[in-house]
Amino acid sequence: MGEFDLIRRYFQRPAVAGVEVGVGDDCAVLVPTPGARWLVSSDMLVEGRHFLSTVDPVRLGHKALAVNLSDLAACGATPRGFTLALALPRVDEAWLAGFSRGLLALADAHACPLIGGDTTQGPLNLCITVFGEAPPGRALLRGGAQVGDEIWVSGRLGDARLALEVFRGTVAVDGAGFEEVRAAMELPTPRVALGQALRGIATAAIDVSDGLLGDLGHILAASNVGARIDVDALPRSAVLAAQPPALQRECLMAGGDDYELVFTTPAGAQLPDMGVALTRIGVIEAEPGLRVVDALGAAVEHGLCSFDHFKS
Ligand code: ADP
Ligand code: MG
Repeated sequence: MGEFDLIRRYFQRPAVAGVEVGVGDDCAVLVPTPGARWLVSSDMLVEGRHFLSTVDPVRLGHKALAVNLSDLAACGATPRGFTLALALPRVDEAWLAGFSRGLLALADAHACPLIGGDTTQGPLNLCITVFGEAPPGRALLRGGAQVGDEIWVSGRLGDARLALEVFRGTVAVDGAGFEEVRAAMELPTPRVALGQALRGIATAAIDVSDGLLGDLGHILAASNVGARIDVDALPRSAVLAAQPPALQRECLMAGGDDYELVFTTPAGAQLPDMGVALTRIGVIEAEPGLRVVDALGAAVEHGLCSFDHFKS
């Protein structure tokens, strides 16, 4: 199968509203919502670095788009479309069928069509660029947190890291529990509707891709504030809660790959009910730095650690 047959079979879809020209010409042509701002983000997934070669291609397709939609969610953007740059070692039709199924199912669920891309031979590598929109001045950014704001997190943290530790062989988790945390790692849910609902409510937001402490640290740095968080308040699954306390804290605070939203709101703000749990985990303070305490208020040691591709 040649390059163009491959693109036609696995990546070309019927035209949708808002896309005048999609896959098949030199450029896609999108129709902007009058007055809206574009929000654009890219995320690359490299085999061996971001995923294991053995991962189910349906799940890989889902995750490749999910991590990109998560960036739009963190900014409160409405998804409009995405491009896919794909390097493949060989044409493996079973793999392509699974990958495109997982990818396009999530795309359909978010009305975010695949509008173009590039396909080449090479070591397996997936790069997606997402395009979203938000009304002027309404995008959620990292720099708006104010002293006294509450800090919130969606969903649960730490399961993806726990699954990674099981794959690494440092932790044993039984069958059903492992499948649950593995799904958190391989099938993350981007909080797209929540992000949009937080426009005008959240003062700052970010998605947790590299670990809570590091990602919250980006909000603190951009907003020029500090914070205090309660490690015992961090939302966790029953599977993670059954692990030794030190491992729980490592997964919760430094785990990464969670794709939950961390955001700040003025104290007492009314939060939207979007069917995902929201947990208050701390407060923004004037004193720079991040202070972690336990439920009794005792200081908890932490290196402000998060994932850094060039450090680990
Ligand atoms: P060009 O040579 O003009 O860059 P290509 O031959 O790379 O065009 O691609 C042909 C068409 O197929 C273009 O519309 C491009 O956007 C689309 N395309 C290529 N690869 C992909 C892909 N992996 N997913 C979606 N669309 C793709
Ligand atoms: Mg090209």
